[in-house]
Amino acid sequence: MEKKPFVTLEQLKEIEKTYPTPYHLYDEKGIRENAMKLRQAFSWNPGFKEYFAVKATPNPFIMKLLKDCGCGVDCSSLTELMLSKACGFSGSEVMFSSNDTPPEEFAYAAQMGAIINLDDFTHIQCLEETLGYIPETISCRYNPGGVFKISNDIMDNPGDAKYGMTTEQIFQAFQILKDKGAKHFGIHAFLASNTVTNDYYPLLARQLFELAVKLKEETGAHISFINLSGGVGIPYRPDQEANDILAIGQGVKQVYEEVLVPAGMGDVSICTELGRFMLGPYGCLVTKAIHEKHIYKEYIGVDACAVNLMRPAMYGAYHHITVMGKEDWPCDHKYDITGSLCENNDKFAIDRMLPKIDLGDFLVIHDTGAHGFSMGYNYNGKLRSAELLLKEDGSVRMIRRAETPADYFATFDFCGLFQELK
Ligand SMILES: *Cc1c(COP(=O)(O)O)cnc(C)c1O
Repeated sequence: MEKKPFVTLEQLKEIEKTYPTPYHLYDEKGIRENAMKLRQAFSWNPGFKEYFAVKATPNPFIMKLLKDCGCGVDCSSLTELMLSKACGFSGSEVMFSSNDTPPEEFAYAAQMGAIINLDDFTHIQCLEETLGYIPETISCRYNPGGVFKISNDIMDNPGDAKYGMTTEQIFQAFQILKDKGAKHFGIHAFLASNTVTNDYYPLLARQLFELAVKLKEETGAHISFINLSGGVGIPYRPDQEANDILAIGQGVKQVYEEVLVPAGMGDVSICTELGRFMLGPYGCLVTKAIHEKHIYKEYIGVDACAVNLMRPAMYGAYHHITVMGKEDWPCDHKYDITGSLCENNDKFAIDRMLPKIDLGDFLVIHDTGAHGFSMGYNYNGKLRSAELLLKEDGSVRMIRRAETPADYFATFDFCGLFQELK
């Protein structure tokens, strides 16, 4: 897939008059169109809802934009719940899919009327002790163990993952929850991450639908929704083919009609908790070349670093880079593109063939819209950047300001030492 930035050099020069680099930029038009396409893909299922995984891009402007497109939110922590509440999400618009959950977070989620998705069998007791009751609507997270394969390719390794209940546990859990008053059940599983294939959801759906039929038969529980969670990926590399969400929706529909409908379960709603797919391609990290260095290798130092985008340093993840204004130049220079952390893994690209880079060039680092800014941190005293939204009318709105040193020192406020730094 050709990797083309959603922003032009002229637009970046205009933005620079108000906002210095580095910053994350999001594409409102792309976000909306993609969200609408997802809706269309599952329009055959009247109860369908996407619960946007807040951890991917926890920004209230983005969350409200998705709310406009009919999305709910998937939260996994207290602050994500608080943020969602502030954005106007409530009740069944909120899925609380957390793990190793602090009891007070169960209490907060229940107070919001969120749907609680239990990660573990022992959480039943924890939840009941915390709330004093079991909610009427409840979900359980499933982990079948083993490896998740598509044909002969191992996609991921659920047997090694900390999440979810075993098959035996989920049967027991449904029975116990039902005895304690639960009336509407959900089943959730997240078995492979960043899949770039149209087969993941349909294969996962088959496993969960077959499980649902057995759970209903054995426990008599009313299954009201099945949550396919996240994991539909994006083509970070130019040689990858993007997923076709319409084909994915049709694939799930086929399995639904094959497994659920004949079992008299044609009223089950499908839920998703996509993060990467909703936002990944519609965000980029904009940075400028500020140094070049010629030692044993050729380095370009940019004004962003791994605190702004951790994926390359953490996973060795590939993020495509466009040198703005030089799209048609030959890629005849081999560079490491680095940030300024005192960590040798602070590199956005290693041995990457790119056009000749001059100081002051804008570099657009692609596909940072999900798990980009949100994985940021403050190592080396580095500050988090601003987030900007490129609106459909071409204007730009700041949706999060950049951190200042005062933010960095704010957690010392209690001792008065740093007042003069504010
Ligand atoms: C991270 C996460 C998601 C989103 O995953 P993506 O790969 O971004 O789609 C959804 N649900 C849960 C429970 C998660 O932890």
